[in-house]
Amino acid sequence: MPRSHEVVNQPPSLVDYNVYLRDPALREWVALGDAAWAEPDLAEYGALAGSEEVIRLGFEANEFRPVFESHDPQGRRVDRVRYHPAYHRLMEMAIERGIHSLPWTEERPGAHVARGALEYLQHQVESGHGCPTTMTFASIPTLRVQPELASAWEPGVTARVYDPRDVPMADKHGLTLGMAMTEKQGGSDVRANSTAAEPVGNGGPGEEYRVTGHKFFVSAPMSDGFVILAQTPAGLSCFLLPRWRADGTRNAFELQRLKNKMGNVSNASAEMELFDASAWLIGEPGRGVANIIRMVALTRFDCMVGSAGLMRQAAVQALHHCRHRSAFGRALVEQPVMQGVLLDLVVESEAALALAMRAARALDGDEQAAVRILTPIGKYWICKRTPTVTAEAMECIGGSGFMEDRLLARLYREAPVNAIWEGSGNVQCLDVLRAFAREPETVETVLAELRAGASLDTGLEREVKAIEAVLTRPDAGIERVARGWVERLAIALQASVLLRFGNPLTAEAFCRLRLPGTHRTLLPGGGGCDPRFAPLLDRAF
Ligand SMILES: Cc1cc2nc3c(=O)[nH]c(=O)nc-3n(C[C@H](O)[C@H](O)[C@H](O)COP(=O)(O)OP(=O)(O)OC[C@H]3O[C@@H](n4cnc5c(N)ncnc54)[C@H](O)[C@@H]3O)c2cc1C
Repeated sequence: MPRSHEVVNQPPSLVDYNVYLRDPALREWVALGDAAWAEPDLAEYGALAGSEEVIRLGFEANEFRPVFESHDPQGRRVDRVRYHPAYHRLMEMAIERGIHSLPWTEERPGAHVARGALEYLQHQVESGHGCPTTMTFASIPTLRVQPELASAWEPGVTARVYDPRDVPMADKHGLTLGMAMTEKQGGSDVRANSTAAEPVGNGGPGEEYRVTGHKFFVSAPMSDGFVILAQTPAGLSCFLLPRWRADGTRNAFELQRLKNKMGNVSNASAEMELFDASAWLIGEPGRGVANIIRMVALTRFDCMVGSAGLMRQAAVQALHHCRHRSAFGRALVEQPVMQGVLLDLVVESEAALALAMRAARALDGDEQAAVRILTPIGKYWICKRTPTVTAEAMECIGGSGFMEDRLLARLYREAPVNAIWEGSGNVQCLDVLRAFAREPETVETVLAELRAGASLDTGLEREVKAIEAVLTRPDAGIERVARGWVERLAIALQASVLLRFGNPLTAEAFCRLRLPGTHRTLLPGGGGCDPRFAPLLDRAF
């Protein structure tokens, strides 16, 4: 080769590493969350997730987007989506490890932490296939509202078998479920749903209805069934809409088209029209929101775990690059300004994991008030931080970070979606205020969580006092500043969780970088990197 083609100072691709074993913070949370029994599975999945082959599957599943087939060659309506084999392989890997079901089949303590850790690894390879596994996992508490539906569906939904065939449920070895609430005229405000359900007989819980209307966003449209909302005379109600009818005919809905998404493209999302489609009522008519919210609460939990995973992978990519790339005579990781940026990414990622895992422990411990309040706070804040972190990590890699052959481009395009779906940012903040107003135990839970860490850091102690003053005497105008409040709560909670359970140096760095009165700045890196915190860069990866 001529000398001009010699490639130097280009970091090697980050492949064939164990995504789990090289993540000390995740391992600490798994141990703390009574999930050490899952270590062999986590290490095995971590090795797969970091393997060159599986990383390539992630790229292929996004390069070759799902294709919609409305009709078969003979002109019959089939409403099928064809996925690339890489997507199917990723789905198979996730389902075989129980990412769609583990807490419902595993009776040991720590099952939500173990599953959360697996999901955290899953999103570091590829996020699109996380959508169907999340919805399938989250459907169980809503299904269980109607015991006969749960007993018919749960064995297939929780089976660790990925069976993508488009055949009636009775012929399948494993089932997946989706969720369809959003309509054209309103997504956040589901009360605006116009899709209507008429009873076939007398109606009532568990009975068959006929549903007519539309759904504007239906992700994973090849699911075997969908948990949906539709209006009945008693009000908005929750239904299970199967893909196939029990008599072996296709149910009466059509997919209109696939959404042309900017991210999450390995996973299809469709628009659906329903024409007297058969669906079974879950719970009492008119209690649709109360029943589907059991599912939505878990998909929101998954949004925070998934976004924490995206931030972790972004930080890892940035660290790897900066260790292997030099500029102006020194490795980037040794340059003081870059150290500030990297420290910020690492600390943000670890704080996101801490809050998500605290919520997972609350699920395991059935701490209902903690689950209720940590979910919207964490969903809002962690998902909102992800675009900033992925953009900054991309910049650490420089021009190559912007290229589609690097993981960062995909992480960045993926980053906003978790903030939008399952209740957008404002909706999460309003939900926090609603919980405080209607369920006073959530105020006590947050205060207890914050006070427990306050004695460990004077900055947090000051912040907790300020928060206490407002939470115990809420102002009628608090809705105007809801975002600011939820942000403060999230940061204080992250500080408290890290101080109590996390790595002490990470906790100290987080308090210095994020609590008011210290180095709090708008962009990553503004707080610099105190040399005392430099070991955190080695610890991170
Ligand atoms: C890729 C993708 C896949 C999706 N898949 C599904 C799916 O499978 N099933 C499904 O049901 N939905 C799905 N959705 C839809 C998603 O859940 C909705 O887009 C989301 O809930 C917001 O609803 P909307 O789009 O109607 O926006 P709107 O409800 O119109 O909201 C627009 C903005 O207004 C804000 N807002 C709303 N109310 C208030 C208020 N009271 N005060 C202040 N601000 C407010 C919101 O936070 C948001 O920022 C998907 C969306 C995307 C992007």
